[in-house]
Amino acid sequence: GAKSAELELSKTGWLLDIRRLTLGETIGEGEFGAVYEGEYMGQKVAVKNIKCDVTAQAFLQETTVMTKLQHKNLVRLLGVILHNGLHIVTELMVKGNLVNFLRTRGRSVINSVQLLRFALDVCEGMEYLESKRFVHRDLAARNVLVSDDSVAKVSDFGLTKVDSKASDHAKLPVKWTAPEALKKEFSTKSDVWSYGVLLWEIFSYGRQPYPKMSLKEVKEKVEEGYRMEAPEDCPPGVYSLMKSCWEKEPRRRPSFHKLREKLDRELGKHSPSPGA
Ligand code: ATP
Repeated sequence: GAKSAELELSKTGWLLDIRRLTLGETIGEGEFGAVYEGEYMGQKVAVKNIKCDVTAQAFLQETTVMTKLQHKNLVRLLGVILHNGLHIVTELMVKGNLVNFLRTRGRSVINSVQLLRFALDVCEGMEYLESKRFVHRDLAARNVLVSDDSVAKVSDFGLTKVDSKASDHAKLPVKWTAPEALKKEFSTKSDVWSYGVLLWEIFSYGRQPYPKMSLKEVKEKVEEGYRMEAPEDCPPGVYSLMKSCWEKEPRRRPSFHKLREKLDRELGKHSPSPGA
C-alpha cells in the first residue's frame, strides 16, 4: 500500500525536503494538477503537484517503480515530497514537449538529421524499458520532452497505470493505441505500435495523427487495414519502419532493439561521413 511505498522511498533516499524546494512559474497543465518550474538544492527542476489524496497515494506507489528505471533517454526522477498531497520532482526539460518543439520551429529550422536523432533518442529509452519488461502504455510525442541540449527523453513512464486514460477504456488515446490494446491487451509490442505513430508525428513536424479523422473512424479504418500515408519528405526507410510498427499481428512488429539498429543505419545514411 501507500504506507509501504513511503517507507521504501524513505529508506532508499527518494523522499525530498520541502524546505529545500523553491517553486517558480507554472509551465504545464497535467491531468492531475499543474507542473511548475522550480529549484531544488541549486538544480533546476520540474514539479508536478497532485493534490487529490487518493490519486496521490496511487502515484506514490508508481514512483517506487520509477526509482528503478534510469536511462539517458528517460526523464529523470529526483524524488518525491509528501506535502499537500504529492510533489513529484523531475529534471527540468527546458525545451518542453516534443510536439510543441516541432510545431514552433518547423521545417525551416529542424532538418532530417535532427528528426532522426529525436527518433533514435526515444527508441533508446524504449529499448531500455523493453529490456526491463516495462510497458509504457501512453507513448506519444506529447509525452516526450526536450532538454536544453536538445536530447529527447520519454516522460510519464510508470505513471500510466494510475492514469485514467490507460485504465479507463473511454479515455484511451485511440490514435496512438494498438488495435489489441484497445481491447486491453497491452505489451511492449503495443508500445511499438505507438512508437510508429510517434515516428509519424516527428516526421510531420508535430501534426495530429490521422488528420481530419474522428476517433470512431480511426478505430474502424485501422481495424480494416487502413494505415497513414508517409509524411511529406519522409525518408522511405523511416516510412517502412512506421509500417512495420503497424503490423496487425503484434509478434510481427519489430522489437525496440531491432528498430534502434535500423535507425542507427538510417542516421548513418543521412549524416555526412567524417572527412567528406
Ligand atoms: P497528459 O496526461 O495530458 O499527457 P500529464 O497529466 O501527463 O498530461 P504532463 O505531461 O506530465 O501532464 O505535463 C504537462 C506539460 O507540462 C507537458 O506537456 C510539458 O509541457 C510540461 N512538463 C511536464 N514535465 C516537465 C519537465 N520535466 N520539464 C519541463 N516541462 C515539463
